[in-house]
Amino acid sequence: MYIEEIQLTNYRNYDHFSVSFDQSINVIIGENAQGKTNMMEAIYVLAFTKSHRTPRDKELIKWDREYGKIEGRVFRRNQSFPLEVVFSNKGKKAKFNHVEQKRLSEYIGAINVVMFAPEDLNLVKGSPQERRKFIDMEIGQTQPIYIYHLGQYQRILKERNALLKDLQRSQEPDPTMLRVYTDQLVEHASILLERRFIFLQKLRKWAQPIHEGISRGHETLNIDYDASVNVSEDMDSEKIRLELQNHFERFESKEIERGTTLVGPHRDDLLFYVNGKNVQTFGSQGQQRTTALSLKLAEIELIYEEVGEYPILLLDDVLSELDDYRQSHLLNTIQGKVQTFVTTTSVDGIDHETISKAEIFTVHNGQ
Ligand code: ATP
Ligand code: MG
Repeated sequence: MYIEEIQLTNYRNYDHFSVSFDQSINVIIGENAQGKTNMMEAIYVLAFTKSHRTPRDKELIKWDREYGKIEGRVFRRNQSFPLEVVFSNKGKKAKFNHVEQKRLSEYIGAINVVMFAPEDLNLVKGSPQERRKFIDMEIGQTQPIYIYHLGQYQRILKERNALLKDLQRSQEPDPTMLRVYTDQLVEHASILLERRFIFLQKLRKWAQPIHEGISRGHETLNIDYDASVNVSEDMDSEKIRLELQNHFERFESKEIERGTTLVGPHRDDLLFYVNGKNVQTFGSQGQQRTTALSLKLAEIELIYEEVGEYPILLLDDVLSELDDYRQSHLLNTIQGKVQTFVTTTSVDGIDHETISKAEIFTVHNGQ
């Protein structure tokens, strides 16, 4: 799949702007603060209807404008079709083939995008929340049903937590309503966990050889799921459901005492090990970067395995950060099969062969 063209209206520092892209490598060159990341972000938003750098959609609208719009034409499964995402003070609308999609889960997945940016180091170094976001986004983009269950889970979790707060304050707490919420929470949680486990097995399968390749055989990568309850990867959703149910029954009074839901997919984490040592705690900067890169490259293969086409790859400010060996390893992996966008402030940091094959764009002040 690839993006044929994109059109921006009142988007970040772009006024009215349209551009056609190359099917293979596009290099976007510009000085700082000209609109390189904004362009990458626009492609990302076209895929996910939200930004990778802010949860506030309003920030995407050009200052002092009423609305902001991204339109794109995408080629996939031998067909070309339009996508559109519009933001205004009334909220956002996403259209697939000119038809508005009421549910995000129906829109997401129209195109698949993998982004690798400097902040992705947080995938390894950052808080558990970053890693949960990573798994949720990646499963969600190939399995819309996951987004549905995640949305339901989050909604019920919020209501359940509010109720737990009430029960915490009451003299004689009646758990009847709590149990209704618990059943609903467990139903969605068990599906989320089952899908996460399957995803993890696939991620591991792809990430391990990639990591070994990038580290020239010196390092082995391992990934573990750190669950807040006693569940394991060999369990199916039914077994997980029973275990969760059990756990919530046992800890009901403790949860009331604490006034919050203590376990579940919203409390879980991923652990990365390089040569048996936790890379978050003990890894060097380079090992952490290699781990993040291996995960991203694994995602490309995983998406191919799931949907039968390679995703679009966005490399914002990262290519020139990689040493020659890692750069050529990355470029060899994607060679000719993945539409790639690379941003840089100067061509000097990028390998000559890549530049000679690429379509080059220069961005200056949103033009
Ligand atoms: P760098 O090399 O520093 O990463 P960049 O080319 O990636 O630079 P962008 O992040 O794309 O820069 O930002 C370009 C400009 O867009 C910035 O000057 C920023 O202030 C501006 N900008 C951000 N949001 C908006 C907005 N909503 N409306 C107008 N301009 C905006
Ligand atoms: Mg930038």
